[in-house]
Amino acid sequence: YQDEFTRAQKLEALGTLAAGAAHELANPLSTIAVVAREVERRVEQIDKDGRIAKDIALIRTELDQCRGILDRMSLDAGQAMGEELTEVTVDELLSEILSSLRNGDRVRTRLPKQIAQRKLLLPFVVTAQAIRGLIQNAISASPDGHDVTITGSCDHNRLSMNIDDQGEGMSPEVLARVGDPFFTTKEPGSGTGLGVFLARAVVERLGGELRIASTKSLGTTVVVSLPVSPIE
Ligand code: ADP
Repeated sequence: YQDEFTRAQKLEALGTLAAGAAHELANPLSTIAVVAREVERRVEQIDKDGRIAKDIALIRTELDQCRGILDRMSLDAGQAMGEELTEVTVDELLSEILSSLRNGDRVRTRLPKQIAQRKLLLPFVVTAQAIRGLIQNAISASPDGHDVTITGSCDHNRLSMNIDDQGEGMSPEVLARVGDPFFTTKEPGSGTGLGVFLARAVVERLGGELRIASTKSLGTTVVVSLPVSPIE
């Protein structure tokens, strides 16, 4: 039931983002359309008084504004889901995720203490949900008896967490499309195709990266890298 709930939330969050973008982009885009029509009309008379140059400057300004809105949107992916940043350790984050995961006992965490205790600053619920989805994928892809392993490495200001499974893996065609919104190979009703898409949005918003390596029939490694607070 929890999964149904998070799927509904994911869809809602995506809808909110899309609606917000459409709304904010409407004004600059209609200005651009009007000005472009004006430019077209005046081009015959050629730019004697510099008005065409002025219109083009206006088009550029409005385009910059659209750019800015899109940049802010990707930055705001976390906040749009309504959450403040919290400081947590890697261990606290993973404990929360694993305790709420069906089949959480199939996950082995192999993180040295100095990594487990590093501190992250992030929207806790949203991030936990994002990483939980990635681990859930790894479990679903794994045949019974095969564990999912979480390992990690860390340097001064960056943490990398590897989610490894020896499951079904992905063909190059599937690998190329994972993370596209709504791309799923699961049966209708059991996958939304938003898990990787939203996880990547959250991780990138935090200044991190999500990378996936996979080989058909051998397994998959998802690497989530996130900025961490420097050691005090
Ligand atoms: P969903 O799980 O709803 O399908 P995701 O965005 O989480 O959506 O995943 C998209 C697709 O990527 C899955 O349907 C599956 O084909 C593939 N995938 C993701 N993670 C894995 C994995 N660990 N092993 C094999 N395939 C995976």
